[in-house]
Amino acid sequence: MNSGKMNIFDLEFDELKNEINKLGEPVFRAKQVWQWIYQGADSFDNMTNLSKALRDKLKESFYIGGASIVERLISKKDGTRKYLFALRDGKVVESVLMRYRYGNSVCLSTQIGCRMGCSFCASSKLGMDRNLSVGEMVAQVIAIQNDTGQRVSHIVLMGIGEPFDNYDNVIKFLRRMNQEDTLNISYRRMTVSTCGLVPEIIRFAKEEFPVNLSVSLHAPNDEVRRSIMPIARKYPFDKILTACHIYTQQTGRRITFEYTLINGINDGNEHAKELGERLSGLLCHINLIPVNTVEESGYIKSDNKRVDDFKKIIEGYGLPVTVRRELGSDISAACGQLRKKSVESDRMVD
Ligand code: SAH
Repeated sequence: MNSGKMNIFDLEFDELKNEINKLGEPVFRAKQVWQWIYQGADSFDNMTNLSKALRDKLKESFYIGGASIVERLISKKDGTRKYLFALRDGKVVESVLMRYRYGNSVCLSTQIGCRMGCSFCASSKLGMDRNLSVGEMVAQVIAIQNDTGQRVSHIVLMGIGEPFDNYDNVIKFLRRMNQEDTLNISYRRMTVSTCGLVPEIIRFAKEEFPVNLSVSLHAPNDEVRRSIMPIARKYPFDKILTACHIYTQQTGRRITFEYTLINGINDGNEHAKELGERLSGLLCHINLIPVNTVEESGYIKSDNKRVDDFKKIIEGYGLPVTVRRELGSDISAACGQLRKKSVESDRMVD
């Protein structure tokens, strides 16, 4: 339980400065502490350039992180790692580390559970519990860096939860990760994915940072979309497209559309044509993802030929399309396979 202490990662630098000032210590102490925590120190006792008295005072007010690894699964196929984190209140959340030639990419959760209810996605199955704090997101990235001994170079917010349903924390988190005195991760190496929350897409367009945006479309029209994504009832297809046009005009940046291919549901030639027509002329890229298995849904992946045909039709509209490589499926770490767990934090495995 929380014991009234603050997660030190929930604080901006100025806030930490004030707190340390309240303890009767000068600003440069705050700088030292800040440096330690972003270099991965996981205990105040390791902060050897601080006096024992100050370390004790810090311990009384703060804890570092608030996300500890309780389980780590490593894919035999591709080295992808799935982490189960325990938070201070006993809740757990999953995130994934993917290793690419160009660096280490973390696919991070932004909420405990999800209330969007997409029928193909495991993250919705147990409903929504709460948002993650900025500090809990930061703590996941730093714990993963500590665990691998390697720098995280890319962040994608495609784990559990709808990032735009936790908008303010997500934006603060991205800004924090970009700061030179934290992890210094370039905005261009960050991606936020949304199931299509229109007001937040427009807000995001105005943030004036070059973070990539992905929109999970999964259908070429409202009828198909509503049958698999309840949020489509709130935000119709046309409104999403308008918001996407605003985004590309405002930022000059390409948008990525995620399209999960589900056999017999949204993968017909007629769907591909309609999608091509709707998206043609928009500065975008389409990412096709043959649906990953989620026990409850009963959906089946489109076969390779279907995926190829679907891809070719869209290419015929002059739109760039790729098929997403599947990583970590043997440890249920692939897209849509992360879910809120109800286990408690006593399952330390190596
Ligand atoms: N809520 C956000 C981010 C989380 S999901 C969003 O909806 O975009 C990350 C991506 O995985 C989304 O495009 C999502 O639609 C997709 N996805 C979910 N379940 C999937 C499944 N079973 N197979 C393949 N992709 C899936």
